[in-house]
Amino acid sequence: MPARLLDGAAVANQIRAELAPAVASFSSRAGRPPGLGIVRVGHDPASEFYVRGKLKSAGEAGLRSDLERLPDTAALADLLALVDRLNRSDAHDGILVQSPLPAAMGEDAEQRVFDVIDPRKDVDGFHPVNVGRLVQNRATLAACTPSGIIELLERSNVPIAGSRAVVIGRSDIVGKPMALLLLHRHATVTVCHSKTADLPGVCAAADVLISAIGRPGFVRRHFVKPGAAVVDVGTTQVTDAALVDRLFDSASSRRQVFARRGALVVGDVHPEVAEVAGALSPVPGGVGPLTIVMLLKNTLIAAEQRAGGAGGAG
Ligand code: NAP
Repeated sequence: MPARLLDGAAVANQIRAELAPAVASFSSRAGRPPGLGIVRVGHDPASEFYVRGKLKSAGEAGLRSDLERLPDTAALADLLALVDRLNRSDAHDGILVQSPLPAAMGEDAEQRVFDVIDPRKDVDGFHPVNVGRLVQNRATLAACTPSGIIELLERSNVPIAGSRAVVIGRSDIVGKPMALLLLHRHATVTVCHSKTADLPGVCAAADVLISAIGRPGFVRRHFVKPGAAVVDVGTTQVTDAALVDRLFDSASSRRQVFARRGALVVGDVHPEVAEVAGALSPVPGGVGPLTIVMLLKNTLIAAEQRAGGAGGAG
């Protein structure tokens, strides 16, 4: 039997509908909408796409969102000064610096930027203070993608407590916070990475399998316990026609999309997994829409906390 769809787009719409009255209520109490400052450095085309999506969603949700741009040639000091200005802005409750930063800014540039964002405005949940709170299970601002995956699992009635969960990938933005969120919900969690021995065997014990590595079609049928819930976080832009032909059979609508556009966003999970998994999130339409809606939710949370802390509108 084919896997049940874990419909990220539908869950994102549900959350968006729940946010609307809360955003309206904040705006009327505070006399201003929750505000999000997005910083973009350079001209990476994928970032352009993501930033446009975030601005559009924020506007539709009744948030104020401002895009601050810096050129490719900007120095790290310019970026840190811009973040400092947003830290001091009363109109901005959330700050997001879009990755990747230009290589010329240096290898540790992202970490240095995350370190200076006011933790109260850190809607990505990347500041060490918020990461520490997540470790201690008292986070109020946690990373958007893993938080969205928890919403997807819970609202799709996938049991987490007591389950064996395997997370493939150990990045600071997805794998590690994902493992912590699952652990706090009483899953028994294993984190895998590029040095894991017998990765398929480890994955095959999972009731909940989450792949966040960015390798198209990497997770094959034999990685998956029959009936397991599988969440595909990977998003890789594929332009190689031979790879698309290998991954998708000739009847697949994905091939038609590729033929039209010459490129296709492909997840980590091979299509054959749908035949063995009990539930599966698609790419696109799975985790992506949830990441954006959790950013909006975090901005509202940050706004309410700031207003409450200032004795104002909270
Ligand atoms: P990342 O920082 O590049 O981390 C990738 C992780 O995957 C690393 O821990 C790496 O292991 C592991 N890995 C790579 N190859 C592997 C292999 N062959 N076997 C086992 N583990 C392997 O990536 P990320 O930022 O976490 O993102 C992961 C994917 O999720 C990307 O495709 C990204 O585009 C996507 N993503 C999607 C969303 C969304 O909203 N849909 C949001 C965020 C990310 P090592 O640590 O050992 O190197």
